[in-house]
Amino acid sequence: MHYYALVEVPEGDEPFEKRLAAVLAPHKEGVEGGSELWDWWILGGRWSGRLSGYDPYTDPVNQKRCWLCQGTKFRNDELGKRERALNPEYTCNGCGGTGLMTVHESEFVPHAGNVAKFGALSKEMQPHVLIANGQVVQMEAWTGSEWEDTSAALTELWGEIDPDATVAVVDLHR
Ligand SMILES: [Zn+2]
Repeated sequence: MHYYALVEVPEGDEPFEKRLAAVLAPHKEGVEGGSELWDWWILGGRWSGRLSGYDPYTDPVNQKRCWLCQGTKFRNDELGKRERALNPEYTCNGCGGTGLMTVHESEFVPHAGNVAKFGALSKEMQPHVLIANGQVVQMEAWTGSEWEDTSAALTELWGEIDPDATVAVVDLHR
């Protein structure tokens, strides 16, 4: 699963991503006493644009040549020929006849809008996982036998964050 997380990143002399990594490190799977939130993460990822309305999937910079038709828009291997015999309109199932494919989320070109001042955000941007003020709160928590709705706690923490705090959109995988 890929979870939309919003992470407060403290000021400091280290590069931004290093400071972000330091906040996330204790929450890695297998770290004793931690919340085991992730086995992999990336700034933005499939949640890129969540704060700005930007759509990484349609941005031309995130398109690459379709590998199924080599960008010809016309799949001409055995499968392509077989499909075309059944349906003459058949082009390519990899790109729908555009010759282009969206790159994997981990290859998206960085989007500046994934980092913002908390004060600029609206409530609709609330994440599934919120890490701020030294706390970690999720929309729901596993009790050991069932999922418990903890969105009220998340909304509470949301209300306590300093508007001047810097937050980052993170794609958490676990
Ligand atoms: Zn194609």
